[in-house]
Amino acid sequence: MAANKKLLILPGDGIGVEVMDEVRRVIDWMGKKRRVSFDIAEDKVGGAAIDAHGTPLTDEAMAKAQGVDAVLFGAVGGPKWDNLPFAQKPERGLLRLRKEMELFANLRPAIVFDALVDASTLKPEVVKGLDIMILRELTGGVYFGTPRGIETLPDGQRRGINTQVYTTNEIRRVAAVAFELARKRNNKVCSAEKANVMESGVLWREEVTRLHQESYQDVELSHMYADNCAMQLLRNPRQFDVIVTDNLFGDILSDEAAMLTGSLGMLPSASLGAADSSGRRKALYEPVHGSAPDIAGKGLANPVAALMSFAMALRYSFDMAEDADLVENAVKATLDKGIRTGDIAGPGTTDKVGTRGMGEAVLGQLTALAG
Ligand code: NAD
Repeated sequence: MAANKKLLILPGDGIGVEVMDEVRRVIDWMGKKRRVSFDIAEDKVGGAAIDAHGTPLTDEAMAKAQGVDAVLFGAVGGPKWDNLPFAQKPERGLLRLRKEMELFANLRPAIVFDALVDASTLKPEVVKGLDIMILRELTGGVYFGTPRGIETLPDGQRRGINTQVYTTNEIRRVAAVAFELARKRNNKVCSAEKANVMESGVLWREEVTRLHQESYQDVELSHMYADNCAMQLLRNPRQFDVIVTDNLFGDILSDEAAMLTGSLGMLPSASLGAADSSGRRKALYEPVHGSAPDIAGKGLANPVAALMSFAMALRYSFDMAEDADLVENAVKATLDKGIRTGDIAGPGTTDKVGTRGMGEAVLGQLTALAG
């Protein structure tokens, strides 16, 4: 039996709880059928933690998150907590995790499954087979740079100020993640910035190039202005493998890439921190969607985004590429059979199921594929 791998599950609120139940079942399946043993802790986050402890994330839960190999996060929020002051809202739990774990690299894959190719607003021949990764720098840039604020000028006009700022280390550490990711994929990195009009973009391009020359010459590197990248994502998205970009451009490009694929219920994500001396990175995996109060408690949520987030944890935190492939292929096989939750039901649906039905179907395919 391989050494235990430490996981913290934070289901959160609304459909976060429902989809994480299905992840739990896949983890149990892995333990039984793949001889992989996980040490699993669970805690509350978001509204659930506010109700139980008066805070969206206790210090105890934070300490647990720091000590595990991977955090699996569901979703937080809901109308019950909407009127709390900003500093006490459920989302603060997630922000605290990201900040204190120093999760600077946000990975958002955009994958188009053949069975769902019609869910994209783009033509099937443009998106069929798409599998790209947007890597967004998450803790620097214009969202955090100073000076910032709104000031009143002597003539009575007001002026809003934000500062785009990046240091060598901030650029190099996220670029290193991009190159390492590419090595586990199709070995291509495209770095996007605005070096034509921004000094921070010039520095970004120089530092990415320097790191590439020093340590990653085996990976194919290209550079693109971020506005062109936005166009190319719509024109020919399959030209990309890994796109690495800053916080602001990444915010926009990752949402654009997500919509190439269709539904929110299908989109996983990961956020990674710095590597320690053993090469282990702090990591949090979460579906892109929120707690979906409109369908929460009804057993209708699509668990695929959460399951695919778990597959990312297997791949990036546990170096279990074969098991990650297995989970992804089980999802693919389930969709190929026409089994769909309501959010992705459409032409080709043979069996419309709820959260549990989808989880069951994926488990069935896992068993079939694992032989
Ligand atoms: P949402 O992602 O929760 O829902 C948007 C729409 O997509 C809804 O109609 C919902 O039913 C549908 N949807 C989302 N995930 C789905 C799934 N897995 N299966 C089927 N349908 C799905 O976004 P929202 O409505 O803007 O926000 C609801 C709450 O979630 C708010 O409190 C918000 O602050 C919070 N939120 C949390 C996170 C997070 O925890 N990371 C992210 C976004 C929003």
